[in-house]
Amino acid sequence: MDRLPEHASAVVVGGGFAGAATAWWLARGGIADVLVVEREDLLGLHASGRNAGMCRQIAEDDRWTALCARGAALLREPPDGFAARPLTVTGSYLVAADDATLAALVDQAGRHGITHRVVEVAEVERRVPALAGVPGVAAVFTPDDGVIDATALLHGLVGGARRAGARVVRRCQVEAARPVAGGDGVDVVTSRGTVQTRVVVCAAGAWAGEVGAGAGARDVGFQPVRRHLFFLAQGADGPAVGDPFVWRVGAGEGYVRNGADGLIASYCDATPTVPGDARVDADADERLAARLTTLAPRLAERAITARWSCLRTYAPEGPPRVGWDRDVPWLFWVAGLGGHGATACAAIGQDAARAIAARLG
Ligand SMILES: Cc1cc2nc3c(=O)[nH]c(=O)nc-3n(C[C@H](O)[C@H](O)[C@H](O)COP(=O)(O)OP(=O)(O)OC[C@H]3O[C@@H](n4cnc5c(N)ncnc54)[C@H](O)[C@@H]3O)c2cc1C
Repeated sequence: MDRLPEHASAVVVGGGFAGAATAWWLARGGIADVLVVEREDLLGLHASGRNAGMCRQIAEDDRWTALCARGAALLREPPDGFAARPLTVTGSYLVAADDATLAALVDQAGRHGITHRVVEVAEVERRVPALAGVPGVAAVFTPDDGVIDATALLHGLVGGARRAGARVVRRCQVEAARPVAGGDGVDVVTSRGTVQTRVVVCAAGAWAGEVGAGAGARDVGFQPVRRHLFFLAQGADGPAVGDPFVWRVGAGEGYVRNGADGLIASYCDATPTVPGDARVDADADERLAARLTTLAPRLAERAITARWSCLRTYAPEGPPRVGWDRDVPWLFWVAGLGGHGATACAAIGQDAARAIAARLG
């Protein structure tokens, strides 16, 4: 079992994409003695290991789209020591449910310089015959989007951080953090002892609010939201490995993508919930079948080979919270990565590490 050190320059709470990317940039930027603390036995047991792995650059607003476009560029051309080829570029089709949705997608792409073209829905059906009948006014094809190998990304980030001197301690829960009595620094109290540091990075995903409270921060109002994903049986009419993923955007959302790990579909549910292990609803299979009947009737006939759910967590402002706490001067938030953490984590970690390094410098 990894030993908990007595001191660290920064303690990063959470070993998902948010914590791993922040640690990678800190360590690679020359900050010595960065410590990542993860409660679970394995990394990626929560959102970072259970997501759909789609790299979609056009997002819901300017802040998200900017982060996703920067994050995607870093995944396409990873810097030295980064995860090796975590992205397979496949392109994507975002099928717009209505004219307003189409205009919003095109507007985001144009404002952020994302290569794209508007195509007829018939092009989607020709390219991926299993999507015959997908309803929409048109689709936006984004050739630089793709499929992320989430495991390779997470372990690449953690491995790279380690090689640059960071330490990772698993099976260790952070319980509280408080200023050292009568001295400089902060004591981080964990289930395996106390470590002294100058900065605590809250990258605890759905538990970010709890970890912040344990550090004495005011409630930010992070909201975990549950979503189901499914593996579907492969079919001769696709989508094949390497095909663009297809995401119907707007009312009646749903997506399907294929990759080395299988064919994944979702009906894009978003049920507000509390932090914890996400369960699968008893009617989840029926809900997927109903959505697919509308979106892609041929896919509705495929067998569901596995299903799971997991939590996406949002900050109240929408985009992620990446910055110092307004009251607790040594607490830095990297939380609320919502539904874009795989795509945007490399950019988010870079922004976080710049701000933290400026303080530690
Ligand atoms: C169903 C689903 C589909 C998704 N699909 C996509 C997609 O296609 N593309 C995309 O870009 N993004 C996608 N996402 C979003 C992406 O997965 C998340 O934004 C990202 O994984 C969040 O990373 P995180 O590090 O903030 O959280 P997590 O991965 O949850 O990591 C937080 C870690 O903190 C640890 N922790 C919590 N409390 C403590 C404590 N007290 N002490 C120590 N450790 C603690 C937890 O154990 C956990 O490992 C999807 C998410 C879901 C749920």
